[in-house]
Order: sequence, then structure tokens, then C-alpha cells
Amino acid sequence: MSAPAQSGLYIVATPIGNLGDLSRRAEETLKMADLILVEDTRVTGKLLNYIGKKSRMMVYNDHKSATDRESILDAIRCKIVALVSDAGTPLISDPGYKLVRDAQAAGLYVTTIPGPSAAVAALTLSGLPSDRFLFEGFLPSKTKARAEALDELKGLNASLIFYENGSRLGAMLTDALAVLGDRKAAVVREITKRFEECVTGSLGELASRYESEKPKGEIVVVIGPPGAPEAASEEQIEAALREALVRLPASKAAGEVARAFNTDRKTLYDLANRWKGEGSS
Ligand code: SAM
Repeated sequence: MSAPAQSGLYIVATPIGNLGDLSRRAEETLKMADLILVEDTRVTGKLLNYIGKKSRMMVYNDHKSATDRESILDAIRCKIVALVSDAGTPLISDPGYKLVRDAQAAGLYVTTIPGPSAAVAALTLSGLPSDRFLFEGFLPSKTKARAEALDELKGLNASLIFYENGSRLGAMLTDALAVLGDRKAAVVREITKRFEECVTGSLGELASRYESEKPKGEIVVVIGPPGAPEAASEEQIEAALREALVRLPASKAAGEVARAFNTDRKTLYDLANRWKGEGSS
């Protein structure tokens, strides 16, 4: 690799369990850093021990005041400053966003050393559609707020990714079942660690399994997209296409309706063009 010698902010992803997943670039950057911004000095201290380097650490979170961030920006101006979180990719349900925003606004060099993130790792293991997904992070812990958050997601034709913990898992799955319906889902636990597991099933099956079982360790829940709306008739699909054509050109309207009804885009596109031809003749 070309050594990162330039002063700036280096966003460094670290392993989510298995230290073997630390990339060579991540290791070299941490060794070269003048300062490492961390969530917890004990956690990152273990990683630094593993690579045999004692770099200077400073605790960073996005609740730091703008003045504190200013002094960190001063360091970034003339030093190699690495940003890590306890595990995985910084900024993903972890601190860093405000610092990256401010460093970029100040015209400073910002780069990323990509690597593990539990969200993507879980999606790849879940066996659920991976072409479109939405990462939601942690849902609220109170049932009402959680149901509202889920309600906002229910129309999306995408797999949904949530971070969770064992004690809330059963309640979260029960709320998801009530709001989203009985979709396919996966509870992915302890990825890259000794007790890694991926339990798949319908939301109903998983909700009843985890009603009493409170699994240990770190957990990601992946919920599949809604299935084809079985009740949708040809008339309903055509009505949706006519409505979409009021707002959108034929190709986009066909795409939107095809996604919503899980049906063939080309057929809808041809139909839209036929209507157009009939209308103009
Ligand atoms: N920034 C991290 C990332 O990129 O994965 C996520 C940080 S977030 C504070 C921590 C949550 O990520 C955990 O509560 C859990 O939901 C999930 N997580 C982290 N490591 C995991 C693992 N090895 N297996 C399953 N989930 C994990």
C-alpha cells in the first residue's frame, strides 16, 4: 500500500469480533497515527496491544462541544489523526459524523480505510434479498415510538437492517410482526465470533422463539421486503399505473409500480406506451 503520510483525518474500520479481520491498511494507519480518536481507551487499547503499538488516544463522541471539535480540527490540520469506534465502521451507529462534516467544511484532508460493519455482514449472511436495503440502526426502546418508526418503513420494497440487543429482541420482533406483517427475517448474532449464528424464519416464528429466550451477545435483525401483495388484481395494478403516469414519465411510472407490486416492469412500460398511443390516436 502507499503509506498514508499526509496529515488529515483517517476513518479506520476495525474488526467486529475476529481480530484477523483488521486490514493491513487499517493496521498501518493506526501505527502511523499521531493521535487516535476512540470511544473507549480500554477497548482500542486492546487492539493497539494486538498490533504492538502504543499510540496516543483521546476519547471522542459527537456530543463534544464545537470548541472541543475545533481543537481536534487543529490537530487534524498538521497531524495524522485516526478515528475508530469500539468495533466496526465509525459513524455507523457510532460517533464521527460531526467531526467528518466539520473537517470537510474546514477544507481538511479526510479519507476512509474501509472494513467490517455488522450491518453489511449480517445482510450477507441473512439469505434475504440484498439488492435494496435500508439500514435503520437501533429502533427506539419504547413500544409506541418503535411501532411509529417501523410504520415509516413498512412501504419500502427493501430489506431492513436493525441493531438490537438480547433483552429487547422479543419485543422488537413482536412489534415488527404487528406493523410489517409476517415477513421473512433473520436474527444474526455474534458475527465472526465463536458462537456466530444466523437464525432464519418468519417474523411470527422468530417472535415466538425469542419471546422467552434472551440471547446473549451482539445482534443484528434483518427483515425481508414485503412479498407481492397477493390481493392485487390486474385492475388495481393498472389503476396504480394510471396514477403514477400523472406524476412520472412512462419508464419511471412502470418502475415504481413494478416495484410496489413485485411485477414485470417491461410489461407495465409497454402498457403505458399503448395507452399513450391510444390516447393520441
Ligand atoms: N459501527 C459498528 C459497525 O459498523 O458495525 C456498529 C456499532 S453499534 C454501537 C453496535 C451494534 O452493532 C451492536 O449492538 C450490534 O447490534 C451490532 N454488532 C456489532 N458487532 C456485532 C457482531 N459481531 N455480531 C452481530 N452484531 C454486531
